[in-house]
Amino acid sequence: MLAVRDLVTHYGASQALFGMALDVADGAVTALLGRNGMGKTTTIHSVMGIVPATSGFVTFNGADIVGWPSHRIAGAGLGLVPEGRRIFPNLTLRENLLATASNRLNLPQPWTIGRVCALFPELAARHTAMGSLLSGGEQQMLAIGRALMTNPKLLILDEATEGLAPLVRTRIWVALAELKSRGLSLLIVDKNLDDLLHIADTCVVIEKGRPVWHGSPAALHKNHAVRHTCLGL
Ligand code: ATP
Repeated sequence: MLAVRDLVTHYGASQALFGMALDVADGAVTALLGRNGMGKTTTIHSVMGIVPATSGFVTFNGADIVGWPSHRIAGAGLGLVPEGRRIFPNLTLRENLLATASNRLNLPQPWTIGRVCALFPELAARHTAMGSLLSGGEQQMLAIGRALMTNPKLLILDEATEGLAPLVRTRIWVALAELKSRGLSLLIVDKNLDDLLHIADTCVVIEKGRPVWHGSPAALHKNHAVRHTCLGL
């Protein structure tokens, strides 16, 4: 579904990606792993068109999307749950969900506020609460719900469990497993490796803007050299 090849990205004169590559198969989960500052967020932002790639290929459902504006990439079926949640603080929970609602691909059974609240029952009683008054966990659930309201075919999550209490983190992982079981493709960056490897089908390890290893979670589990050198475990 998503193929990234030879991706090079700069911030001004500073190069952040040096030939990044990864794949997400239809209905599968890819984990993008690496220590801080290695280029995970830059990879995601380059895929989404938020940071322009200098060169390389990003193919989504057969279309080369490099150079497309973000709104067109989102319209093609790529959804992002950004690091730091970035919900609209001065809109209510309901308004946050309605703000992004669209079904440009005419998917059957599109996401609705009711379906988001079925996935996250915690949100059901909070419809009129302002975004700024929601707890961190509620904001994260809302950020995922807001991305789902765009009816993506592939959902990208950047540190979606960061800073959350263990119980809330568990709720997020359960919801992500539920989304996977419904056939949604996922690309996930997260520091909670045990949970991430539990849900992932494929892992890609990034080091200084380059892919240095890829394989199954089981293979990563056994590969102490990669775990130690690239992930600091
Ligand atoms: P983290 O887990 O800390 O978020 P990351 O793997 O997501 O790290 P990136 O945020 O993609 O890494 O950063 C990759 C490199 O690009 C780092 O050297 C970082 O300093 C640099 N970088 C990131 N954002 C910018 C920016 N807006 N301007 C200049 N350099 C940046």
